[in-house]
Amino acid sequence: MIGKFLRRVFSPRRANMLRRLPLEEHGLSRDQISSCARRTTEGLQAAGFQAYVVGGAVRDLLVGIVPKDFDVATDATPDQVRATFRRSRIIGRRFRLVHVLCGQDTVEVSTFRGSANAGGDSVEQDEHGRILRDNVFGTLEEDALRRDFTLNALFYDPATQEILDYCDGYADLRARRIRVIGDAEQRYREDPVRMMRAARLGAKLGMTIEPRSRAPIASLASLMENVPSARLFDEMLKLLLSGHAREGVLRLRAEGLHHGLLPMLDVILEQPLGERFVMLALERTDERVRADKPVSPAFLFATLLWHEVLSAWTRREVGGEKSALALMEAMDAVLAAQAGRLAIHKRYLVDIKELWSLQPRFLVRAGRRPLRLLEHLRFRAAYDFLALRCESGELDAELAQWWDRFAGASDVEREAMLLPEEPGQKRRRRRRKPAGAPRTDGSGQAAIDPIA
Ligand code: ATP
Ligand code: MG
Repeated sequence: MIGKFLRRVFSPRRANMLRRLPLEEHGLSRDQISSCARRTTEGLQAAGFQAYVVGGAVRDLLVGIVPKDFDVATDATPDQVRATFRRSRIIGRRFRLVHVLCGQDTVEVSTFRGSANAGGDSVEQDEHGRILRDNVFGTLEEDALRRDFTLNALFYDPATQEILDYCDGYADLRARRIRVIGDAEQRYREDPVRMMRAARLGAKLGMTIEPRSRAPIASLASLMENVPSARLFDEMLKLLLSGHAREGVLRLRAEGLHHGLLPMLDVILEQPLGERFVMLALERTDERVRADKPVSPAFLFATLLWHEVLSAWTRREVGGEKSALALMEAMDAVLAAQAGRLAIHKRYLVDIKELWSLQPRFLVRAGRRPLRLLEHLRFRAAYDFLALRCESGELDAELAQWWDRFAGASDVEREAMLLPEEPGQKRRRRRRKPAGAPRTDGSGQAAIDPIA
């Protein structure tokens, strides 16, 4: 009780002083703010509320990155925001936010939140100090201090073109350092995902985590295990789709944070083949994101887990299992282990499994099967996956080249490229009943067609 009281009184958060930085000092002019975000702050201010552009957008603009999206913070309640804009809707259950819509554009508006350790009954924590609920409204200053890093706590007012800075975030941003607001250990305990965010931001901005913010991570990394797996998935996806996935994963590893995310990612990264494969996949992803091309999360997670599947598959084959069955079992085992940590969203699981299960089919270059594989809906993605396997040295480069040529060839050329069927294959085919004949499962009874 006394400890909590002292912490509140002497908390470094108390020592903060508001600085108002004019346009001449920071150079961020209102033309750089999206028109939707400006309309939102103007609308709220005209209705008598405070409203600022906050967080990632201000930070990114100041370091010369085009922001993905704009967030606005205000003292208006969600209902008041909703009432101010005709085209808006309230979203979120845990903490209600408002989406203000202008044409195709959306701005997320949040009401100032109270700082987590402002005391009282509003904050629920688990036994490690993780905050389970903190849905109280607060003042502008409290909202600044409950944010994660100083450079994320800059408030920009498009009307005055001033930046409001409560925690020296601008100085940190200029010095290119990521600093936790308040006591780093306590803030990581409140929300362990902040450790991962530090690594992600460091990678994205090419900045270092300042020593006092970095030091506690090594001993607190295991707290990531208590974070709900769906939340970890969201944050990991942000990292992977940031355009700095390779650097982000390297930073997670450098901070010892990868253990809690993708089981065995550390093991995979320690095998030269596995590391090459994952790094190549991440580089390709980064190139695509930076070129504004679509990226498939399923493809990404399929690559991150592939070497684990591969070793589980081989283990089962060596144990005498049939190859196809061994692969299916390996896939299920790897995904089941993964589900306990960072839950990959269900809608991606089907695609991931399909990518993996198509891989053995690339080894067959005889008969009609290569032609059927070409027609598969997921051929392109599966081929890209194969190409990565070849490039990383797992398979002979010649295999991907063959498929590349095969896919681009004419019908006649394809026929010429196909290898003669192996005798075993022919025999199996000949024993098959003609199409349309009732199928049997060997027991003499008609089997139920699984497709029907
Ligand atoms: P990005 O550009 O990748 O979206 P971002 O900083 O905008 O980075 P968001 O997840 O969009 O990240 O969060 C928006 C803002 O909310 C952050 O800038 C930060 O001020 C605050 N925030 C986000 N997550 C946390 C957290 N876990 N703890 C405290 N504040 C947070
Ligand atoms: Mg953001």
